[in-house]
Amino acid sequence: MTGESSIKFTALEPHPGFAMTLTPVPLAPVADLSTTSRRRSVARLIEPLEELTRTSPYLLRTSVRTRPNDDASLLPRYIFLGPRGGDAPIRIGIFASIHGDEPEGAQAVVEFIQQLDQNPTLATGYVLFIYPVCNPHGFENDSRYAQSGRDLNREFWNNSEEPEVQLLQDDLTHHGLQGILSLHSDDTSEGLYGFVRGVTLSKHLLEPALARASRFLPRNQNPLIDGFPATNGIIHQGYPGILSPPRGMGPRPFEIVFETPATAPAAHQRQAFLAALHSVLEEYRKFISYGANL
Ligand SMILES: [Zn+2]
Repeated sequence: MTGESSIKFTALEPHPGFAMTLTPVPLAPVADLSTTSRRRSVARLIEPLEELTRTSPYLLRTSVRTRPNDDASLLPRYIFLGPRGGDAPIRIGIFASIHGDEPEGAQAVVEFIQQLDQNPTLATGYVLFIYPVCNPHGFENDSRYAQSGRDLNREFWNNSEEPEVQLLQDDLTHHGLQGILSLHSDDTSEGLYGFVRGVTLSKHLLEPALARASRFLPRNQNPLIDGFPATNGIIHQGYPGILSPPRGMGPRPFEIVFETPATAPAAHQRQAFLAALHSVLEEYRKFISYGANL
């Protein structure tokens, strides 16, 4: 908001004598409308995806309301069915905006789906379960928290009564995911970083994702990030209750939380997220095909 907000309103005010004849001039800079007075909207965010579900042979919508008869509780869900690869499809979950005041991940995910639809071979061999907005109420109200006031990303596998968490837990239980990728933006970090959990492989997926994304934003090289020891922007611990797969159900998926610096320009954050998403798909496919050839 730095550049746009310095525009002077006075320069845009029409002279009284011309007011009736001139084409109306907007009285506020467009940037102000989008960042402050115009409320964020899940429906507006997913418009291009809704359009795609009507034409794309790859994209399915499975969106669901978490509260009956409450349109504002719509949690958008999509399945992107990539072209068939050689083996059984690889099932990956992509989750954004579980903190509603981190909209860049949601926007990146929408763009990602559009890119895959334009160039489906990028998703060859994959079935992607995509959740652009895990916290619809927070997203629309620019709040980290859910309607209840709780942080949904501390509620998992703890008998939570949050309907969003219950829905996501059900999906995490039933989709048999081989990997989970969560997108966040951190306003206390000056650079990119990520958390890894689950299988060792996670680290080997996050490293190239951070490397590719660092074309757009710097990596956080601090030895301590968010209170955790970090090496080259990679943290091996995490908070209890974060969005994660259920324990003890088959092979453990890879788990990556990818964080952009929230104070960086939104466009750069989106580019970084897109780079990370593409990197993870490419790198994991390599691991799978290498494993298949052993
Ligand atoms: Zn977050």
